[in-house]
Amino acid sequence: VERTLSIIKPNAVAKNAIGAILSRFEQAGLRIVAARMLHLSREQATAFYAVHRERPFFAELVEFMTSGPVTVQVLEGEGAIALHREVMGATDPAKAAPGTIRADFADSLTENAVHGSDSAETAAAEIAFFFPEGVCE
Ligand code: ATP
Ligand code: MG
Repeated sequence: VERTLSIIKPNAVAKNAIGAILSRFEQAGLRIVAARMLHLSREQATAFYAVHRERPFFAELVEFMTSGPVTVQVLEGEGAIALHREVMGATDPAKAAPGTIRADFADSLTENAVHGSDSAETAAAEIAFFFPEGVCE
C-alpha cells in the first residue's frame, strides 16, 4: 500500500479545522498511520521546502509555515499520493474544485491550508524528515 506525507498548515490550524480536514482524508478512504503536531522552526521550514529555495515566493512561504503550529500526518491507502492531492484540490484555491479542502479552507495561494507529497520519492523523503524513527506497520 502507498503512503504520503500530509501537513495541515498554520492557517487551517488557526481556523480550528484540524478535525474537519482529517475527516475528509478518512472519508476519502485514507488511513492515518502516524501523526504529530509541531511549530516549525525557520531551519525546519527551509529544509523541508529546499526545492523551492530559488522561487520568488520562498521567503513568504517560510514565513507563513513558521507562523503557527501545524499537524503532520502519514496517510496510507491505495494510490494515496494521488488520492490525497485530489482531496486537497489545486495549489491555487481559485482553481481548486468545489468540495476540495483548498476550496473550503485556503485563504490565498500561499496560505492554502494543506500540503501533500507529489511523488513516491518525495513521499519517502518527507515521511523520513518528520518521522525519522519510522512509522508503525
Ligand atoms: P504543497 O507542496 O504544499 O502540497 P503544491 O505541491 O500544490 O503544494 P508547490 O508548487 O509544491 O505546490 O508549492 C509549495 C507551496 O508554496 C504551495 O502549497 C503554496 O503554499 C506555496 N506557493 C506555490 N506557488 C506559489 C506562488 N506562486 N505564490 C505564493 N505561494 C506559492
Ligand atoms: Mg509541492
